[in-house]
Amino acid sequence: MLATGKFLAKANFQQTLIVLTSKCTTILVISITYNINFKPKRMREIEKTEEEWQKELTGMQCFVLREKGTERPYSSPLNDNKEEGIYVCAACDTPLFSSETKYDSGSGWPSFYTPIGEQSVEEIVDKAHGMIRTEVVCRKCGGHLGHVFNDGPKPTGLRYCMNGLALKFNKTA
Ligand SMILES: [Zn+2]
Repeated sequence: MLATGKFLAKANFQQTLIVLTSKCTTILVISITYNINFKPKRMREIEKTEEEWQKELTGMQCFVLREKGTERPYSSPLNDNKEEGIYVCAACDTPLFSSETKYDSGSGWPSFYTPIGEQSVEEIVDKAHGMIRTEVVCRKCGGHLGHVFNDGPKPTGLRYCMNGLALKFNKTA
């Protein structure tokens, strides 16, 4: 009698353990799925609604900066610009690139071998259009600027391939 009781207690305990383990696993799976799929959107220092951006930017600037579009190569007057100055974000005026690091990449887009500071831009893996590229966005407002590639000149070997529409040029006085 005592032995059966012990056996039952053990079986009960094991069952409870199994149920608990499976519940924990379910909770774990749900929480992992939630974290992957519902990661809250990263807050930017400058946050505006798409309506607000549309009022401040031209249609083409919105297409590039907000919808991650790409301007036609050789369409930007900044591509050939050789004046000394600072290139700022067309959406929020944050300094992004210096004329000192601009070079002629032959791509038809304004190209730089490094941003003006480590905190000026953010690089994000972009898997759109069946390619894996590194997208470059303005760190402050999140505006899409272009992409960075590994075929640039020394000293970095990087090519920041930017849309002229995403930039404004401030000539050094
Ligand atoms: Zn910006």
